Amino acid sequence: MPRLRPFDTISRIAVGLSALVVLCLVTIDALFGLVADPAAREAARRQAVSQVLADQLMVAATRLGEREVQQMLDAFRRRETQALAIVLRPAGAEPVAGSGILQPAGDAARMHLAVPVQLQGRDWGALELQWQPIPGEGWPGRLLTMSTLWPLLCFLGMAVLLRLYLGRVLNQLDPSGAVPGRVRSAYNSLTEGVMILDEHGRILLVNEAVAQITGRRDVSIGRQIEDIEVFAAMRQDDPSRPLPWRMALERSVGVERIRMVIGEGSRARILLVSCAPLGQDLDNPGERRLRRRKGAEGCLVVLADQTSLERAHEQLSRALKDLQGAHEQIRLKNEELFRLATRDPMTGCLNRRAFFEQAGALKERCNLEGRPVAAVMCDIDHFKSFNDRYGHAIGDEVIKAVAGIYNGSAREADLVCRYGGEEFCVLLPDCEEEVALAIADTLRRLVQDTAGDGIDHDPRLTITSSFGVAVTRSTRVGLEALIDQADQALYQSKRNGRNRCTLHEEKVAEPA
Ligand code: GH3
Ligand code: MG
Ligand code: MG
Repeated sequence: MPRLRPFDTISRIAVGLSALVVLCLVTIDALFGLVADPAAREAARRQAVSQVLADQLMVAATRLGEREVQQMLDAFRRRETQALAIVLRPAGAEPVAGSGILQPAGDAARMHLAVPVQLQGRDWGALELQWQPIPGEGWPGRLLTMSTLWPLLCFLGMAVLLRLYLGRVLNQLDPSGAVPGRVRSAYNSLTEGVMILDEHGRILLVNEAVAQITGRRDVSIGRQIEDIEVFAAMRQDDPSRPLPWRMALERSVGVERIRMVIGEGSRARILLVSCAPLGQDLDNPGERRLRRRKGAEGCLVVLADQTSLERAHEQLSRALKDLQGAHEQIRLKNEELFRLATRDPMTGCLNRRAFFEQAGALKERCNLEGRPVAAVMCDIDHFKSFNDRYGHAIGDEVIKAVAGIYNGSAREADLVCRYGGEEFCVLLPDCEEEVALAIADTLRRLVQDTAGDGIDHDPRLTITSSFGVAVTRSTRVGLEALIDQADQALYQSKRNGRNRCTLHEEKVAEPA
């Protein structure tokens, strides 16, 4: 039994039809008096009995005396309980007989009747009657009389009956009734929206999920799919493509999971729409070709709601992007930390701890392979005098300028270390004594010729540096011992007048 909804389409049709029928009946009643008016009937009856009484009095008056006339009037009043007063009045004279007290004629609520009386063919006077008001006369009473109540009752009764009748009849005619109940409930149990369209795109079957997915209740059987606003306003990623159900209907081509969007902004819903053409014998290639030309006999439309999945995916992508950003920041911070932990912040050279870690391994590897490793110790000459003459800040500039030359000249495999305040140690793998000495001398020249250029304070500033070089091929000479040998050679350079390079074991390169 379908549930009665007071404002559904069938109810509205029932109300409309009832109103129409009642309007016709009221018109017919007004024209032909279909329903009798009790007040009018009573008025007519009073008129008739008054006339009968007048006739009887005319007949009797010639034979009866005054007393009998009076008795007739009293008897009439007893019989007609609604009659308040009766008076027999000759024309232009006082009443000759009467029963009850006649009230002045101005009282509109009471009914006054004056029936002319003739005696022997001549006007004699009149019988005047005063009656109680007829019930149902006047507005409050009229409203409750049948003549006004029947259209209302008729309308209500007809509306209820028509609603029940049409509900049953239209239910029988409902095309969805052709679908067996268990098939319909199977369709309704699907989470995907399923519709079957005929060859014109009219909906033949629609399950409940369609209303849930689209958020619209007007997707109903018999409607043209594109006439329904929600489908007409559906957007797909490629607007030049035909709508998926049109592809299926007009070209008999199945389409799968076309991404379509309903609504705007945060209320937008994302659907994956799949459509399959329907028709008999579509497995037959000939029939398939024919249908491609002529179009399918119908199509199956499946709507899968992708909104929550896509939203979750978007959130996940955002979280992943944030994570990648955070990861990149951590990587940069780690690089920075590593740089801070291994490099001298002022010059960018390796600090002593990092230098010894890397240099030890490098020297060991080279020597194990029988290759030479050179250590070059460098110290800026009379550096203290820069501090004393120009201040500590300029002293720092001098250190940075010299370090810049060492870093800029080093090969990738070389290690440059800020060993102390204005002292540097450079480790050169694969360097024979001559090559190491030549490199040290190149550095010495570069310091002498260019280091002063970078100091704005005094363009004529001359900076020189002294070098000590030691080379070993043996793993028996440790890194510290090698550096110590280079340091001894450096002091040799200092003792010999500075701005020079000395190879350990007294091999000295003279300044140019
Ligand atoms: P020598 O030619 O014998 O090497 O003479 P020197 O003056 O260079 O040698 P010394 O070792 O006596 O002086 C080094 C000075 O370097 C001592 C110290 O005040 C200064 N110094 C050490 N580290 C820094 C630094 O980072 N910045 C500045 N401006 N001065 C520093
Ligand atoms: Mg020094
Ligand atoms: Mg010095």
